[in-house]
Amino acid sequence: MKHLIANWKMKLSPLDEIELALKVGKINFDPNKVKISLNPSFLSLIRIGEIVKKTSVELGAQDCFWEDKGAFTGEISPQYLRDICCQNVIIGHSERRAYLGESDTMINKKIRTIIDCGLTPVLCVGESAEQRHSGSRDHIVRRQVELGLHNINIVGYQKLLIAYEPIWAIGTGQPANISDIIYMHQVIYQTLIDLFPKSIVQNNTFVLYGGSVDSSNAGSFLREELIDGVLIGGASLIIDEFAKIIQIADSL
Ligand code: PEP
Repeated sequence: MKHLIANWKMKLSPLDEIELALKVGKINFDPNKVKISLNPSFLSLIRIGEIVKKTSVELGAQDCFWEDKGAFTGEISPQYLRDICCQNVIIGHSERRAYLGESDTMINKKIRTIIDCGLTPVLCVGESAEQRHSGSRDHIVRRQVELGLHNINIVGYQKLLIAYEPIWAIGTGQPANISDIIYMHQVIYQTLIDLFPKSIVQNNTFVLYGGSVDSSNAGSFLREELIDGVLIGGASLIIDEFAKIIQIADSL
């Protein structure tokens, strides 16, 4: 099973998001081989939830708050996301870490609440170009995983997704090379094995790659057994591109 998560960021108006979701809903794929999630802006979640309800496409959010309810002006409750049929939430995207000051502590609190609600967190981790060149990449990514998942318990059917997204590869047209990605997936799996029982890591955790994935390179990532899927930004906004990536995943 390969996961394809479409992170639409704040790139489309709600009307354009709905139009795109209608087109995605018409794409044929085998839900036993491919799991697709659309993660539009909050404004379109309810409407897109209705559109994908009759399909095998999943609905996800791009963020949420760490409390279920209360006086938190402007925030979005994970419980309410669940109520409108969201199944996963992207957490700790590098854009939020950079522009909104999201810390590992905040990310950890959010993951805890998401799991308590029975939703799937998609924890984003990844190093900057500077960190990569200074040789601290492995340490940085390891720490992001450890702190993000500090004291988190995973049981039963609870799923945890981690997206390895080197910051320098996001939106640049320059994805990481496959040997680096595989190496970093191993670093992440090793970190998970240090945190959770082996059976949980094997059955409940999935590691994805994100950063300039498009139809020309998706196959090389998705063919790797260690890569459980891809998180797609720009290419998921172009229906022909996204449809090609879905076909590639479906044909493996
Ligand atoms: C992202 O939004 O996390 C992302 C990977 O974007 P892009 O595919 O455009 O690099």
